[in-house]
Amino acid sequence: MTMSPAPQSPNELSGDRLDRFARHIVLPEIGGAGQVALAQAHVLVAGLGGIGAPALQFLAAAGIGKLTLVDNDVVDLTNLQRQTIYTERDIGHGKAVAARQWVANFDRALDVTISDTRITAETAPGMIEGVSLVLDGTDNFATRLAMADACVAERVPLLSAAVGRFQGQVGAFAGHLANQPCYRCYVGDAFDAEDCDTCAADGMLGAMSGWTASFAALQAVRVIVSASGGPFADGWGDPQWGQIHILDGLKPGMRTLRIAKDPACRACGHGG
Ligand SMILES: [Zn+2]
Repeated sequence: MTMSPAPQSPNELSGDRLDRFARHIVLPEIGGAGQVALAQAHVLVAGLGGIGAPALQFLAAAGIGKLTLVDNDVVDLTNLQRQTIYTERDIGHGKAVAARQWVANFDRALDVTISDTRITAETAPGMIEGVSLVLDGTDNFATRLAMADACVAERVPLLSAAVGRFQGQVGAFAGHLANQPCYRCYVGDAFDAEDCDTCAADGMLGAMSGWTASFAALQAVRVIVSASGGPFADGWGDPQWGQIHILDGLKPGMRTLRIAKDPACRACGHGG
């Protein structure tokens, strides 16, 4: 007689998954319930560059069950200094395809969808349907604002992260909620048409990508687990909506800005 495996409810983790995430589960702030919330979460990573590529390592390692990876670029030799999932063999290949291969090698249990569709005001809403959280690491304001506006309209939380030179920024937004600002409340309307990708001209310390991206992954776990209930240690249960953390690699140190909701915002206020 063979032993049949115990039936798995969607609210339980199987034996090898319990082992894989044991260091999470032992934390009272995560626990079994938090790890199940991570397994049931669907995170869309917009941009698989200096933010998205290193962040993906910790999102996948955290057992985020479903990942949608969006980028229309190909891997370039100059990316390897900070976009740590790619190797020399990936040069010339699509970033989304290479990222999916990285996840497949890392954890076959994760459900990965990829897209090389450009993120625009027209395409973003369809992309994020049913998503629990968007992590936006794209490199220009027009794309960021298109994604941010779609997140407000579709009621999807947004983590917006950026890095350049020795500075990183990570902010959490839930502009669909009353009294919570959106990303457009923060940057305003001036940048819709402007491409502000200055990475090539300004340079970037590679490890700043890692610090900023892994901090963004920490905040992603915070947002997902905080929605699942307690118990929480001081500060952990707060998704930190409307707070932007500025990471300074020169000092080094971190400071936090609080963004107010703009009542006239055309995405989340009455200016639409
Ligand atoms: Zn707004």
